[in-house]
Amino acid sequence: MIPSVLPTYARAPLTFVKGEGSWLVEADGRRFLDLGAGIAVNALGHAHPPLVQALADQAQAVWHTSNLYHIPAQQKLADLIVDKTFADTVFFTNSGTESCELAVKMARKYWFDKGQPERTEIICFTGSFHGRSSAGIAAAGSEKMTKGFGPLLPGFTHLEFGDHDALNAAASDKIAAIMVEPVQGEGGIRPLPDACLKGLRDLCDEHGILLILDEVQCGVGRTGKLFAHEWSGVTPDIMMVAKGIGGGFPIGCVLATEEAASGMTLGTHGSTYGGNPLGCAVGHAVLTEVADDAFLAEVNRKAGLLRQKLEGLVASFPEVFESVRGSGLMLGLKCKVINTDVVTAGYAAGVITVPAADNVIRLLPPLNITDEEIAEAQTRLTAAAESL
Ligand SMILES: *Cc1c(COP(=O)(O)O)cnc(C)c1O
Repeated sequence: MIPSVLPTYARAPLTFVKGEGSWLVEADGRRFLDLGAGIAVNALGHAHPPLVQALADQAQAVWHTSNLYHIPAQQKLADLIVDKTFADTVFFTNSGTESCELAVKMARKYWFDKGQPERTEIICFTGSFHGRSSAGIAAAGSEKMTKGFGPLLPGFTHLEFGDHDALNAAASDKIAAIMVEPVQGEGGIRPLPDACLKGLRDLCDEHGILLILDEVQCGVGRTGKLFAHEWSGVTPDIMMVAKGIGGGFPIGCVLATEEAASGMTLGTHGSTYGGNPLGCAVGHAVLTEVADDAFLAEVNRKAGLLRQKLEGLVASFPEVFESVRGSGLMLGLKCKVINTDVVTAGYAAGVITVPAADNVIRLLPPLNITDEEIAEAQTRLTAAAESL
């Protein structure tokens, strides 16, 4: 008999009933150090008091009114995002994949309105992940995600991540947009070198192509800048955001320049829940804390500390781990044993990590993890490695 919850997830035999900072408490009372943060979502850890307060205050005032009316919390968050980023305008969604949907629609509508309705093709890369909606799976293109779900949304070209020759050959003034993650998350923590992002920007400028960055996982302070592309000094035309911006409350958004957004006029897009007061109140509290130079400096310092511990782990257990990679507090340990075995060993040692493609385990701790917790992470990961 089919379970009452549609059985699409392979769940670990763990049930967390409480969260406090970087810690999750299992139903049986065991405490787990959370280096997964709900897949880079709990940017400020669990039950962070300012977020709890922001949510409670908004819940007392009004939960939902719809986009038929003005929503002050939405306006306030949009103003903050525009102030802190390249963006001139923001549309609020509820998830990463919805942000992908709008990014694709926005790019195509842009060219339609420019009198080039045939300019619909979007270049994407192998190993990428853009969510599970029809546009998201077509954009990622992997057999694992698309098999059985045809006919797929047309108009996506897939190039090998890192194949510059193929990219130069494919780029032309027939291409609508290039969509890329500055650091691939699900693909196994694969950073796009800054020089490549600069090169992509130049290529886009040369052919008038729109650059869409998917910062759903690597954004909101994760790499030690508010958004990962800031390391390279170039800016996108359109950017997808979700995960960390809600700190655990479901909210996402699409950021765009005025030019790139020019096709999205009255009535061209909408969402019932998108920009809901509760989500926006929490998003504003998250961003207020993260979009701060002192906070980001601490993320970078702690990232250095964690990375150093992980390098030590690789040196101590060369038969378990191959290397460390990533950026900021978006780190990956490439494994020599099966990555999911390492994750399972971590559970036994009371530490949570997240598997990714390319036999990697991801470490995506809360951005406000403490130095003591980083030391504890090393202790628990060492215990996990010893058990293998
Ligand atoms: C998680 C993720 C998505 C999809 O987000 P959902 O909220 O699960 O729809 C899209 N892009 C990237 C890079 C992601 O990591």
